[in-house]
Amino acid sequence: MPQPRSAGDRFIGLPAPVLAVIYVALTAGPVLLASFTGGPRGSTVFSLLARAGGVAALSMFLMQFVTSGRFETISGRIGLDRTMGFHRLAAVGALGMVGLHVILFLFRAGESGVTAMASRLLTYFLRPDLLTGVIATLLAVILIVTGKYMRGRVLPYQGWRVGHGAMAVALVLLGLHHAFTNARFMADPLGAAALLFIALVALASLLVVYVFRPVHAFRSGFTVTSARSLSPSIAELVLTTDTPERFSFAAGQFVWLTIGRRHTFTDNPFSIASAPSDLPQLRFLIRNAGDMSGSVSSLAPGTRMGVDGPHGSFTLREAGNGPIALLAGGIGIAPVLSLVRALAATDDRRPVRLIAGARSAADHVARKEIEDAMAGHDFRAIFLADMDDDSGCEKGTCDAGHLNRILEDLDRGAVTAFVCGPPAMMESAIGLLVQAGVPAAHIVMERFDFDGGNDVVCRIVRRRFISVIALVYGATLAVALVAALIR
Ligand SMILES: Cc1cc2nc3c(=O)[nH]c(=O)nc-3n(C[C@H](O)[C@H](O)[C@H](O)COP(=O)(O)OP(=O)(O)OC[C@H]3O[C@@H](n4cnc5c(N)ncnc54)[C@H](O)[C@@H]3O)c2cc1C
Repeated sequence: MPQPRSAGDRFIGLPAPVLAVIYVALTAGPVLLASFTGGPRGSTVFSLLARAGGVAALSMFLMQFVTSGRFETISGRIGLDRTMGFHRLAAVGALGMVGLHVILFLFRAGESGVTAMASRLLTYFLRPDLLTGVIATLLAVILIVTGKYMRGRVLPYQGWRVGHGAMAVALVLLGLHHAFTNARFMADPLGAAALLFIALVALASLLVVYVFRPVHAFRSGFTVTSARSLSPSIAELVLTTDTPERFSFAAGQFVWLTIGRRHTFTDNPFSIASAPSDLPQLRFLIRNAGDMSGSVSSLAPGTRMGVDGPHGSFTLREAGNGPIALLAGGIGIAPVLSLVRALAATDDRRPVRLIAGARSAADHVARKEIEDAMAGHDFRAIFLADMDDDSGCEKGTCDAGHLNRILEDLDRGAVTAFVCGPPAMMESAIGLLVQAGVPAAHIVMERFDFDGGNDVVCRIVRRRFISVIALVYGATLAVALVAALIR
C-alpha cells in the first residue's frame, strides 16, 4: 500500500521580510523601471507624481490577487489571518494611492483654489476617455466597503465571495484599460512591461486558485468515512484517501474542504484535528456555523471531498524544543487536538499545559481523548465551561489565575503558546500570556475569522504592515520626484 508523504521536507513559505521586499519591489517597480528609461512623463511635478501614484495603485490592486490567502508561499510562515490582514490593509493603501492620483491631478500651478479643483474633478468624472478609470475607482470603494461591512453579514458568505472576486477582476481590467489608453506613463516600455508582468502574475494566481486547485483538490482522493454529531453544535467528520502518497501535513494545519463535486468557490477552511500518523485518515471537528458546516453531520459515507492544502503555520515547527502552552476556546480545540495527538504519537516528552474553554462540558468533545493521549506525559490541563453543570469543569473563562497555575513550574520565557478560539477569547488570552511573561514572539495563533484582532501581537503586526505600505508610497513618490527633478 502506498505510504503517506512526509511533511518534513515541505517548503513552508517565505519569511515576512522577504515577502515585504518582494511586495514593495513589485508595486513600486513599474515606476522605478520607467524612471530608468526616460522617466514617467508629466508636464508638471504634480501630474508626474499623479501618474506614478496611479500606476502604483494599479500594481497594488493587481497584487491583491496574490495576497488573497490561497498561497502557501505567502501565508505558510506568516499565517492565513495575517495574510488576510495585509490583504485588507493593502486594499485601503491602494485606494489611498488612487485618491492621491486623483488629487495630484487637480493641482495646477497658479490655479489651485478649491473651486478650480472641484470643477476640474467634475470634468474628469465626465470625460469619456477617463470613464474606465472612474468606474474602477468606484468599484474599489465598493469592494472595500462590502469587504469590511457585508462579508457574511448582509450578504451570505459564498455570495459575497463570488461578488468580491468578480468585482476585483472587473476593477483591474478597467484599471489596465485606463492605464494603457490614457496614462502617458505607459508609453515607457520598461514601466509598461513591468505592469504587464504584475498583471500576468495576478492572472496566473487566478488560474491556480480557480482552475488548477479545483482539479487538484479532488486528485487527493478523499471520501467521507464517517460523519456524526458529537454534541448539539459539534460534528466529527472523518475522511480517508486511497492515494495517501499525494497528501501530507504537519499537525495543526488546515485544509479547504469542498463537498462533493462542487467548485472550490464553495470551499471552507477547517483545521485537521488528527495527527499526521493517522493518515490515510483525516479527522475534523466542525461547529455548526452556517450552511456548509451545518450539513457536515449528514454527509453520507463515500461522498467525495475536495481537499486543498495543507495550509497554515499553527504547527510545532514554530515551537523549538521548549515547553508548550495550548489555549483553546470552543472549536479552537480542533487544531490543538492535532498538536496533542502529534506530541503523543512522536512520544515528545516536553512539558505541555492546556487551558480549554467551552460553553458547556458537553462541548469538550475531545477532553477524554486528550487526557488519554497525554497520560504519562508532563501534562496539566484546566477545562473551563461557561455553564456550571457539575461536570468536572471549572466554571468561567480563562484568567490570569488559571494561566499562572498551569505555568507555575515553567520558564515562561522559553514557553511557546498556541492560541485558537473566538476573537474575544484570543484577544484576552494573548494579553494574559504577555502579562504572564510569555514573549509575544512565542505566541502562535490560528484565527477562524478574518476580522483581525486587537491584541498586542496583532497591533505589532499591523504596525509592520503599515510600514510596508508606507514604503510603497515613499518609494513610488520619491522615484517619481527624482525623475521630475533631474529632467
Ligand atoms: C484557518 C481556519 C481554520 C478553521 N478551522 C475550523 C475548524 O476546525 N472547525 C470549525 O468548526 N470551524 C473552523 N473554521 C471556521 C469555518 O471555516 C467556518 O465556520 C465555516 O467556513 C462556516 O461556513 P458555513 O458555510 O457553514 O457558514 P456560512 O453561513 O457560509 O458562514 C458563517 C460564517 O463563517 C465564516 N466563513 C464562511 N465561509 C468562510 C470561508 N470560506 N473562509 C473563512 N470564513 C468563512 C464567516 O465568518 C461567516 O460569516 C476555520 C476557519 C479558518 C479561517
